[in-house]
Amino acid sequence: MHATVVTLFPGLFAPWLTSSVVGRAVVGGLVTVDFVDLRELGEGRHRVVDDRPFGGGPGMVLMAEPVVQAVEQARGRHGPAVRTLLLTPQGRRFDQRFAEELATAPDGFVLLAGRYEGIDERAIEVLQPEEVSIGDFVLSGGEAAALVILDAVARLVPGVLGHEDSATEDSFSGPERLLDHPHYTRPASWRGHEVPPVLLGGDHGAIAAWRREQRLARTRARRPDLLEPRGDKEGACSPES
Ligand code: SAM
Repeated sequence: MHATVVTLFPGLFAPWLTSSVVGRAVVGGLVTVDFVDLRELGEGRHRVVDDRPFGGGPGMVLMAEPVVQAVEQARGRHGPAVRTLLLTPQGRRFDQRFAEELATAPDGFVLLAGRYEGIDERAIEVLQPEEVSIGDFVLSGGEAAALVILDAVARLVPGVLGHEDSATEDSFSGPERLLDHPHYTRPASWRGHEVPPVLLGGDHGAIAAWRREQRLARTRARRPDLLEPRGDKEGACSPES
């Protein structure tokens, strides 16, 4: 996975890129994340990248020229099929399918993190990015959204997770895209709460059947929308199955 982030705050990413699962993937060369610092493309001695909005109103707007130059620089580090994603609350909702698409993007992807009131619309017209949102709420900048996307995609890269299979068994994953089943670990009895006996019996068939039942029951109770058939859902299962 190769991603380039265009941002005013590349320093916000360092702890995440050097810790835990993703940190190991970066060290191992499975994941590469680099940056174009928008500030370096700013105007004049003060490297100005923003200005007041035409028409008045609160806040500042990122200017088109530095944004376009930065994204062009970022795209230049990738092959011709690079995907460019503008982080915005107004975009397509990011989800597991989207993460899977990005994990297999042959020339990687560029993430453009906005700040202030957003980006001069003409930069968006010129760059024609895919607009992507991580949810119906407003962040103060695109960096937190970029981290969410980078993390969700990186863990899908083969070899990044210890267990090759574990990502396909997570919620929203695998052919059925159900919620995950509950998990338990030692001790088997804890504060009067017992582990379901089937998990202690060593019958792998029975365990698999119990887990699938749990996945279906949870999905039905918490996210029935996931059980509704959709055109592109491989092996969609009905609540009765
Ligand atoms: N005025 C914009 C609007 O209401 O659509 C919000 C601007 S927000 C304060 C600043 C930046 O944070 C945005 O340009 C975007 O990059 C990022 N951002 C905020 N919420 C986001 C979300 N839900 N998903 C992705 N990016 C988000």
